[in-house]
Amino acid sequence: MERRDYEEKQAHAVCVPFPAQGHITPMLSVAKLLHARGFHVTFVNSEYNHARLVRTRGAAALAGSRGFLFATIPDGMPAASDDDMTQDIPSLCKSTTETCLGPFRRLLAELNGAASTGDHPPVSCVVSDLIMGFSMDAAKELGLPYVQLWTASAVSYIAYRHYRLLVDRGIVPLKDVKQLTDGYLDKPVEDLPGLRKMRLRDFPSFIRSTDPDEFMVGYAIKETERAAGASAVILNSFEDLEGEAVEAMEALLVKVKVYTLGPLSLLAPREGEASSSIISRLSLWKEQEECLQWLHGKEAASVVYVNFGSIVVMASEQLVDFAWGLANSGRQFMWIIRPDLVRGDAAVLPGEFLVETAGCGLMASWCPQQEVLNHPAVGVFLTHSGWNSALESVCGGVPVISWPFFADQQTNCRYQCNEWGVGMEIDTNVQRDAVTGLIVELMDGEGGKKMRKRAQEWREKAIMAAIPHGPSHRNFNELVRNVLLAKN
Ligand code: UDP
Repeated sequence: MERRDYEEKQAHAVCVPFPAQGHITPMLSVAKLLHARGFHVTFVNSEYNHARLVRTRGAAALAGSRGFLFATIPDGMPAASDDDMTQDIPSLCKSTTETCLGPFRRLLAELNGAASTGDHPPVSCVVSDLIMGFSMDAAKELGLPYVQLWTASAVSYIAYRHYRLLVDRGIVPLKDVKQLTDGYLDKPVEDLPGLRKMRLRDFPSFIRSTDPDEFMVGYAIKETERAAGASAVILNSFEDLEGEAVEAMEALLVKVKVYTLGPLSLLAPREGEASSSIISRLSLWKEQEECLQWLHGKEAASVVYVNFGSIVVMASEQLVDFAWGLANSGRQFMWIIRPDLVRGDAAVLPGEFLVETAGCGLMASWCPQQEVLNHPAVGVFLTHSGWNSALESVCGGVPVISWPFFADQQTNCRYQCNEWGVGMEIDTNVQRDAVTGLIVELMDGEGGKKMRKRAQEWREKAIMAAIPHGPSHRNFNELVRNVLLAKN
């Protein structure tokens, strides 16, 4: 994509991701697309994440480049003691909502003040994470087009929007904690516009609470409903995968158009293309490149890739069950174990497991996941079903074993396993034999063959969605022309 130099030269987009990995990555893709189109871009990190990125990627990379600058605002959280403290997402949601509007207003004023020196054009639009909805007030005060990026699936947006319906029907809050284990969550929930065959357990996990004032329930309702005031919503998904849900989402948003630009990782300029001077990735952990070298030379579809993303925290007994499940499958594996993956403790793997699997497993703390999932050696992905991971597995044509942890992961898992035909779920209460059984089934069994074929078909469709002049490109052009460059 060529950088253009007519109207876009005067355009300045301020991009505001929610400060967590799964939100920063897709927003960076949107920012790169805008930059490649000729927009001046200001990418707003939290102060905490920015300092962390300087440590993982180096100060030079975070200095920005021509037409693409970074800015920071505080996230309102108490100072973290070290980089390996797992981000507390509910607290971060609360603190960004309550504290970020003032600093963001000041940032916009500063950027507009500096524009008078001719360094960059004044701010002309804001692209914000949908769950950073506080930014809507600041953008509207300046009369700017205001676009929200929903970084998760369309089905999960709808599921969150239906929290209100679950409350109104008296299905939640739970009457008793016993309902977590007595089968109540397994009951089907009928008549949900836009969703198929949902059980209560397939809703984003925050409704699993007895507290009528559960912050995350109220927050999800407020933020998803507030999107009706945006100029448009961007979705990291594509028509073939979620067309029906996108329609339902638009019906809920009434007057707001939803632009599917997914998979953003395929649509955004890549290294070597225009905008390649922009930092390629913003990883909060240091990537271990040896992961790719380790995969080279391995047989096609022979490796189990295990990665639970940036937020999942498990008990050490669960880690041990995953370990033995992998070992007993007899397959080669690559397991990414973040330093904070195990609750309250360092991840300690049994010595016997390390001896038994020596030579057939690689453990690392963070890898370039998109490249890993595109490597032909990867045969199956044991995942938590975060939306980026779900889409990246689609792009790689890799079937999944899903162990959803929290938030939208439950909904994504339901659709991966029941609608898209690319995965099998593993019980929350993970058992080593079940892990082994699913690995063997997905690597060698008939079910596995079908899912690999289905995953390959989705891969083709994802590629077609993002090819030049394909639907995601056309949607992006329309978004730029009709919304981001529109004069109010
Ligand atoms: N990721 C990565 N390397 C890792 C683990 C994760 O690059 O070792 C990336 C992954 O490719 C994805 C993001 O981090 O883009 C995680 O987002 P996701 O929505 O899957 O899960 P979350 O971390 O938000 O739970």
